[in-house]
Amino acid sequence: MSKKQFKAESKRMLDLMINSIYTNREIFLREIISNASDAIDKRYYEEAKSGKTGLSRENFEIRIEPNKDDRTLTISDNGIGMSAEELEENLGIIAKSGSLGFKTENEEAAKDTDIIGQFGVGFYSAFMVAKHIEVTSRKLGEEQAHVWISDGADGYSVEDGSRDEVGTTVQLTLRDDTEDDKYDEFLEEYRLRSLVTKYSDYIRYPIVMNVEKS
Ligand code: ADP
Ligand code: MG
Repeated sequence: MSKKQFKAESKRMLDLMINSIYTNREIFLREIISNASDAIDKRYYEEAKSGKTGLSRENFEIRIEPNKDDRTLTISDNGIGMSAEELEENLGIIAKSGSLGFKTENEEAAKDTDIIGQFGVGFYSAFMVAKHIEVTSRKLGEEQAHVWISDGADGYSVEDGSRDEVGTTVQLTLRDDTEDDKYDEFLEEYRLRSLVTKYSDYIRYPIVMNVEKS
C-alpha cells in the first residue's frame, strides 16, 4: 500500500507532538497502556457475548519490553486487535474523543498547564518520544495480521504483518538523544516501573515487564 497522508486535524496534533511543545512527554506510556486496557475490555465483552465462558482477568495482560540495543520500547496486549481498516481509521485520524477539544488556541496554554494531560492526547503522544512507530495487530476472529507504520509527519502505511495471537503490539523506536533531549530514560526498567505505578495503577489487568538481562 502506498503512503497516505494524515488528515488535517491529525496533522496539527502530530506537529504539536513532534515539536514537543509539551514537556510532560512521559504521559505517552499512560496513553498506550490505557488503549491496551480498553482493547482487553472490548475483547472480554465480545468473548462473553459470543458465549465464551471461563475467561478471567488473568487470561489477559499488557507487556512492556524495552530493548536498549535497538532503542525500541514495545507494548503489547492480547486485546481485541484491529483489522487493516481499523488501523487506518483509528490511527490515521485523531480519535473522536477528548483530543478534538484540544484546539490550536490551547497551544500556548499547554506550555504551562496540564491541558494535554487533562484531555488525553491518545496514541499520537507516542510521537513525542518516538521517531518511528509500528503497530502490528490481529483482530479477534481474523487470521491475517496487519502492520501500521509511520515516521510521523510524512504519513503512514498499512501492510500485511504477522502475529501468532489476537491482539496488538505497539513498537516505538525512540528518538535519538541530543544535548538537550534525552530519551534513553524510557528504556530503563526502574523508570518504566515508576511510570506504570504513577499513571497506570488503576489498570485492572496485569502489566508485565520483560527485561533482557545482560
Ligand atoms: P482514544 O483512546 O481516546 O479513542 P487514541 O488516540 O488513544 O484515542 O486511540 C485511537 C483508537 O485506536 C482507539 O479508540 C482504538 O480504537 C484504537 N486503538 C489504539 N490502541 C489500540 C490497541 N492497543 N488495541 C486496539 N485498538 C487500539
Ligand atoms: Mg486512548
